[in-house]
Amino acid sequence: MYKIFIQGIVQGVGFRPYIYRKAKENNLLGSVKNIGNGVEIIINDKDFLEKLNDLPPLAKITDYEIKKITSKKSYSDFLILKSTYSKGETELPPDIFMCKDCLRELRDKNNRRYDYYFITCTNCGPRFSMIKDYPYDRPLTSMKEFEMCPECKKEYTDPMNRRYHAQTIACKKCGPKLKLLKDKKDISKNSDKETIKKTVDLIKKGEIISIKGVGGFHICSLCNDRIVKKVRKLLNRPNKPFAIMVKDIEMANKIAISSLKEKKLLSSPQRPIVVLKKKKIDDFKEISELDSIGVMFPYTALHYLMFDFIDKALLMTSCNIPGEPVSTTEKIGKYFLTHEREIVNRCDDSVLKVINDKTFYLRRSRGYTPIPVKLPINCKDTIAVGAELNNMICTAKKDKCYLSQYIGNTSKYETFEFLKDSVNKFIKLTRLKPKIVACDLHPRYNSTIFAKELAEKYDAKLVQLQHHKAHIASVAAEHNLTNYVGIGSDGLGYGDDGKIWGAEVFKVEKSNNFIRIGHLEEQSQLGGDTATIYPKKMLFGILSKFLTDEEIIKMKLFNKKDSDIYLKILKNSSNMPYTSSAGRILDSVAVFLGLCEKRTYEGRPAMLLESIATKPFKLEPVFKKENGKKILMTTPLFEYLLNNKSKDKKRLAATSQMYLAKGLFEIASEYNNPIVFSGGVAYNRMISEFMMENDVLFNKEIPCGDGEICYGQAYLANI
Ligand SMILES: [Zn+2]
Ligand SMILES: [Zn+2]
Ligand SMILES: [Zn+2]
Repeated sequence: MYKIFIQGIVQGVGFRPYIYRKAKENNLLGSVKNIGNGVEIIINDKDFLEKLNDLPPLAKITDYEIKKITSKKSYSDFLILKSTYSKGETELPPDIFMCKDCLRELRDKNNRRYDYYFITCTNCGPRFSMIKDYPYDRPLTSMKEFEMCPECKKEYTDPMNRRYHAQTIACKKCGPKLKLLKDKKDISKNSDKETIKKTVDLIKKGEIISIKGVGGFHICSLCNDRIVKKVRKLLNRPNKPFAIMVKDIEMANKIAISSLKEKKLLSSPQRPIVVLKKKKIDDFKEISELDSIGVMFPYTALHYLMFDFIDKALLMTSCNIPGEPVSTTEKIGKYFLTHEREIVNRCDDSVLKVINDKTFYLRRSRGYTPIPVKLPINCKDTIAVGAELNNMICTAKKDKCYLSQYIGNTSKYETFEFLKDSVNKFIKLTRLKPKIVACDLHPRYNSTIFAKELAEKYDAKLVQLQHHKAHIASVAAEHNLTNYVGIGSDGLGYGDDGKIWGAEVFKVEKSNNFIRIGHLEEQSQLGGDTATIYPKKMLFGILSKFLTDEEIIKMKLFNKKDSDIYLKILKNSSNMPYTSSAGRILDSVAVFLGLCEKRTYEGRPAMLLESIATKPFKLEPVFKKENGKKILMTTPLFEYLLNNKSKDKKRLAATSQMYLAKGLFEIASEYNNPIVFSGGVAYNRMISEFMMENDVLFNKEIPCGDGEICYGQAYLANI
């Protein structure tokens, strides 16, 4: 006999029944079982792995080992054995789309799950969002409440059935029921299908419906301006781009342009939102003020059934007000299309963007959480709590990092509570015995304060890490680099010197020796944090470096009242904060070009700038040497913009982006080391395209914004 140990994504994805069927087909003897974080097969065929040429859609073999064994036991059949787990090992599956077989059954009038909104199988459906603990078995999921009917039970216990041990198994008889509520009153129809039709009829009439999805509620409506404006009011989101759901690629093609890669991502089992270039920038303007729009495909049977009654794209966006995580209960709005299955772990839609054929994770959440990402080193049991905005947390053990779902802005109470809850859940799910707690250097971040409490609670070592070092280390870890130069460029991070950093270049030796070799010119941040919301303040500070008060006022960029206040702040500038942030520079350019006055969502001014940018004019970066560091001067950029303000705005937008790209790259390229680039600015298409052309390396499987900070922290805290 042979013992084959397989690792990868092999649990909760229908792998054991697949092995069982393969063994049976080939008249082989032995057994299969889940063990630790893999699957163990005992079989009388040394070449069995070669027969596995059509794995279940979600399964992935990353590693295997074959050993010849002399078994005392004699086998007369092939069996699926009960799972055995050793302590501290787990691999939980993520939530994924509805598979082709289920879709076929959904449309088959003779199938007992015809038109059933909650059809799933071992190959598809919710996972992480309904798991309370592992091993991934029904009693530890929110499906526990639903007792299987005899027919479901029969499928569940038949190894030849696609629903053998499908923990989400359900049918019209025994599964969670769908309900349509209006002001808490049940207005459902007799059948699910009729209820769905009624919901879509309401949408067509212009109503806004909260729909319970896999990892949270969506707000759903038509995409027309009048109704989208109502949604904006309801969610208190004046400008933030919303996502839409389209029926299929034909519908997507009418709205946006997509490359082959983007099409593949749209239809991948993870079904993320993919940010695509709009066909016409002015279309869907109320949904997205940018040149792009977030598009996703249906991913549950409910979504497919909805599109049976409407042939238009639907607005489909996370149901939450700013500062709160996506809601998992009937909370916002008047109408709710909801069901009885509890969402145990909320999980937002993932958001992806493709630049130069490379995938960027703006948000790594549903579909990916909690698949671990590899680390190049062996870690002690570690918790890393990340930073503040767009936050995620992670636990790390051995060479695996378990990144949480998207958490969000943890300066807000509700989101901070979600962070704390996620930390506790991940400690439990990954059977962590925390030895290290890693956090940001910022003393006032909620996450930092919480990390200190955690370290005390677990008697673990607290390691505080500078924001941009964590950014670039995350790329280095993914590429297994120890000596490199890193560019961390974003909105802000607390610096080693207590100043606000935001575009930093480090030379890194032996993984953790960071030498800050350059950064952007420090600019005054008028009014402190408020300058991020009103980028005009930033711009005023920059212009005042080379213009007189009268000259600034003459420009008519600022009204009399504002400029009086700004001048007063500047004159009493004894404790003015200074920042080397790239984000603030891009924001200031956006204000200068008249694109935006207020940052009503994170990254707005810079994203509007990116939206209009075309071909840059030639402008060479200006540097200054200071204490051995190379400083990229940003004031000359604004002098240039002022001297050329009559030129094409779109080209000036491009010139400003390219100025930063070229300048930062030039600082980094003085050494003969590989260069990595990370931070929120890496989402900027033009800047990252330039970096890629120059062989700069990026994150692979994790976001390059602040979502990755926890991963970088976990890594650095262990070296
Ligand atoms: Zn399925
Ligand atoms: Zn049933
Ligand atoms: Zn950052």
